[in-house]
Amino acid sequence: MMTKTLLLLPGDGIGPEAMAEVEKLVAVMNKEESAGFETEKGLVGGAAYDAHGAAISEDDMAKAMAADAVLFGAVGGPKWDDVPYEVRPEAGLLRLRKDMELFANLRPAICYPALASASSLKPDVVEGLDILIVRELTGGVYFGEPKEIIDLGNGQKRGIDTQVYDTFEIERIAGVAFDLARTRGNKVCSMEKRNVMKSGVLWNEVVSAVHKASYSDVELTHMLADAGGMQMVRWPKQFDVIVTDNLFGDMLSDVAAMLTGSLGMLPSASLGAPDAKSGKRKALYEPVHGSAPDIAGQGAANPIAMIASFAMCLRYSFEMVEQADRLEKAIADVLESGIRTGDIMADGCRKVSTSEMGDEIAAKYRELS
Ligand code: ATP
Ligand code: MG
Repeated sequence: MMTKTLLLLPGDGIGPEAMAEVEKLVAVMNKEESAGFETEKGLVGGAAYDAHGAAISEDDMAKAMAADAVLFGAVGGPKWDDVPYEVRPEAGLLRLRKDMELFANLRPAICYPALASASSLKPDVVEGLDILIVRELTGGVYFGEPKEIIDLGNGQKRGIDTQVYDTFEIERIAGVAFDLARTRGNKVCSMEKRNVMKSGVLWNEVVSAVHKASYSDVELTHMLADAGGMQMVRWPKQFDVIVTDNLFGDMLSDVAAMLTGSLGMLPSASLGAPDAKSGKRKALYEPVHGSAPDIAGQGAANPIAMIASFAMCLRYSFEMVEQADRLEKAIADVLESGIRTGDIMADGCRKVSTSEMGDEIAAKYRELS
């Protein structure tokens, strides 16, 4: 059995509480299924600042670069509001994204039947929803040059951001989207605005070319991103994988988040370039929510987003598809049985703590084996 190295970076606030529930699952998998996980723990965010005066130490950075996968909790909180900008908690995550070259951000929007009534939309529109947004994360208008505010001298200023995409950047994100589609519903919808943006014209051309060259077995459609946003709210179940740029992906993934209910439920993955030696992709998995300082330390956090992020890790970094499916089924079953943390509490349900929710999911996972 090959060992699988996992670096755990619990971070701040509810991060450590949520991570503890993943550690329970890792222990179960190692003990009962000889999964062979080797975990190491590091510090990130405010916790790293308190210990080392940096948002992540060089030592932990090196461990992240060497690990098969990184599990990240959350960073930040009022305690570190006044620390210098370069070492603010969020700088730890930005450094990880940059050094690991995490260019593909994966945000699934899954609606568990038991929570369909918590969505912003009608239950029948979202019940059984399972879509995946693949957002380009390292290019586009957030990074393109020039990027500045110019003083025009006549009392006017000009703010400039530049959308830039090169062929290779579109090719590699399209490849990730098509590869993922093959493991799911085999459909990709690419979204851009080729009617008004040159980068959109190129995006459309390159995605089509990648499709023709290597993925003609996958169904490809194209949508203008504004129409795509409308369709996502009208009938989201028409989609399987959506691939889009950094800006549109930022907005569309937040829209998708509201289709499914609480922030405490949403996992994410960020994938990087394949490692030069092993060919394995670098990867970081994290819940979409932040450190939630208002509920930290109370055992009130919902650990499902963190646990579901670990399920993504099993699926994408370790090809442990059966275990990933089983873990996701365990989450769905526990919700179905009416067990809830405070953020998703509903009438007639039983309210549990963070660690009780983790115990219930671990027990259900074992029961399903
Ligand atoms: P960040 O800036 O790091 O994104 P934020 O303050 O914008 O953080 P979050 O920390 O993600 O947002 O959370 C906003 C609120 O949602 C929290 O204050 C908390 O009440 C609730 N919340 C977030 N995550 C969870 C969770 N896992 N379980 C329960 N409640 C949560
Ligand atoms: Mg936030």
